[in-house]
This record gives sequence, C-alpha cells and structure tokens, in this order.
Amino acid sequence: GKVLVTGANGYVAVWVARTLLEQGYTVRGTVRSESKAAHLRKVFASYADKFETVVVDDITKAGAFDEAVKGVDAIEHTASPYHFKAGDPDELIVPAVHGTTRILESALAYGDAVRRIVVTSSTAAIMEPKSGPYTYTELDWNDSAVEAVRTKGRAASQPDKYRASKVLAERAAWEFVEKNKERVSWDLVTLNPPFVYGPALHEVDRPETLNESMHSWFHSVFKNLHEPKQLGVIGGGWIDVRDLAEAHVLAIKRPEAGGERILVASGEWKWQDWINAARSYGVPTSTGDDSYDSATAVHSMRFNTTKASQLLGLKYRSIEQSTRDIVEDFKARKWI
Ligand code: NDP
Repeated sequence: GKVLVTGANGYVAVWVARTLLEQGYTVRGTVRSESKAAHLRKVFASYADKFETVVVDDITKAGAFDEAVKGVDAIEHTASPYHFKAGDPDELIVPAVHGTTRILESALAYGDAVRRIVVTSSTAAIMEPKSGPYTYTELDWNDSAVEAVRTKGRAASQPDKYRASKVLAERAAWEFVEKNKERVSWDLVTLNPPFVYGPALHEVDRPETLNESMHSWFHSVFKNLHEPKQLGVIGGGWIDVRDLAEAHVLAIKRPEAGGERILVASGEWKWQDWINAARSYGVPTSTGDDSYDSATAVHSMRFNTTKASQLLGLKYRSIEQSTRDIVEDFKARKWI
C-alpha cells in the first residue's frame, strides 16, 4: 500500500515514514519547502523507489492536499505546530485545526483509494487538570485549555495555547467525520501520546534545533535546566518515538481500530528517572537529587492504555532502553 505522511520532516514523522518503509509500504511525505526534502532523501536513500516527497507550502489553504492524497491508501497526519513561542493562540490553532480539516476535505474529494486516516493528537487534548490523583482515559477532553485561551487570549499560558490547538484540531477531525459519514470511504483513528522521547532521525544540527520534547529532555537530563530538588517532583507520561511510529502503522493495519481515539503511553516518569538511566550508561548528567527513590515516587496523573493493548497490541520500550539509544545518538553528535 501507499501511505501519505504529512509534515514528513518532523521528529515523529520521520520515524513513522521509516517504520512504514521497513514494513513494505510506499511513502509519500509532504514538506513545506523543497529544502526540507533533501535530508529525507538522504535518510531514505536505500528506499529511493519507495519514498517520494511533495511540497505543500501552506497546509491551511483550501485544497492544500488535493494532489497529495491522490492514489494513497492511508494517511498519517502529523503536521502541526508544537512550540511554546506563540503570541496569539491562533498561531498554533489555525494551522492545527485548518491543517487537519484540509487533509480530511482533500481525502473526501480526491482520496478515492483512502481507507484509513490517522491523526496524531496528544494527551494534551485529554489531560484536563484534576485536583487529586487521576487516571486519564480516552473519555477525557482538555476543555479547560480551550476555555483558558478563549478567556485569556494572548495572556494564556504557552502550554495552554498548544493544548487548545490539539483539542480543537482533534474535535474538528471527529466532527468532520460525523458530518460526512455518509460520504467518506475511510474511517478515522486518533492517537493520543504524552511526551515523545527517543533518538532523532530528522534534520537537527545542534541541540537548539531539537523538537520541543527532546529539547526539554536534553536540557533537563544534561544541562541543569531544573533545580536538583525538583528532579524527583517534575514528571509526566511518555512514549518512545519508535513505539509511537509502530502505533501509527498498526493504526492503519488493524481494521478494528477504525473510529477510535487511542491513548498510547509507556508509563510515568520523573526527571531523576532519566538522569539515573543516563548515568548507568556512564555519561555525565545534570546534578541529580540523590535522595530520590523511584520506587516511592508519586505519580498523581496516570494513563489507562487498555484500549491500545486491545486494539493495537502495542508494546513499549523502557526508560532504560530509550535512554541508552538517546545517549548513543547524542554521543554520536558530540553533544555529550
Ligand atoms: P516537530 O516540530 O518535529 O514536527 C512538526 C511537523 O509539523 C514538521 O514537519 C513541521 O514542519 C510541521 N508544521 C509545524 N507547524 C506547521 C505549520 N504552521 N504549517 C505546516 N506544517 C507545520 O514535532 P513532533 O514531531 O514532535 O510533532 C509531530 C506531531 O506529534 C504533532 O502533531 C504534535 O502535536 C504531536 N505530538 C508530539 C509530542 C512530542 O512530545 N513530540 C507529544 C504528543 C503529540 P516544518 O518543519 O516546516 O516547521
């Protein structure tokens, strides 16, 4: 089969494209400009006859993906801004929402062969703040981020601007499908991962140009971004980028995943867990908190990933496995 991957030069997308190619698929990747395709052609040189790129310079324009969707059997829509530098929330919301709507519109109009569309959403679209311990499921929606952006506008927090963009984009996707259910020849899957960590395959020449999640990982684990006493306190959920890529492939392969919102997460962490793992590979790290005991760490926010195991049979790498490969990657780049 042939699969369209949007934003193919992104951190997650390059691993999605690679996993598809490894499993025999042909891949068409969209990028915003021709200059962003060069690195991809290098990375996928051994798949020259199975990998192509097309330029979609503005994903928010009507008809943006009309040509790109022709002849593909499935779509992985990953393109969406993920950064904490927005002034007006619309800097994130417009490309997130319109980019998602445009791909669905083009698939409806010209994607005659399309059977499955996977949209990369996020736990950002799920994790509405709670006052006590809580286990999130696919039934949760982060409406409070949307409310924060609606009431505060530019003064909303950077994370809330990003979270609102993910909620609104995912809701737009489900609403589009509901509105057009008599006319579509495909179904929708959304994947909702927490922080994505793991080695980088996309074009990165220095730590400053890492994508948002790995940028924070690098500075937290190696560059003393946090006070040592915060390292056993600050945490979250995560998934290895290669497991997330596998989830994207499984999401197009498994018929029973159609129409489902799927939370994919490996587990919970505190920064000190990553620092301990990095130290076990013998590299100098940020100053740690030696009083931290991972066995007694309190993770008040957890994720229920039953659906991912039932529908996708997804397996996850551990903090140690993932750290080993990130350390190797950063060493090869001479950043550590
Ligand atoms: P990257 O920043 O590495 O990649 C983002 C991709 O989206 C790039 O191809 C980028 O193109 C494209 N893009 C960003 N803004 C626009 C825009 N305004 N118009 C068109 N294209 C745009 O991020 P990730 O790989 O980390 O993220 C990929 C997806 O995964 C996103 O949907 C993100 O929300 C989601 N996600 C990521 C998580 C993480 O921890 N990394 C966690 C949960 C979800 P260009 O290079 O040209 O800017």
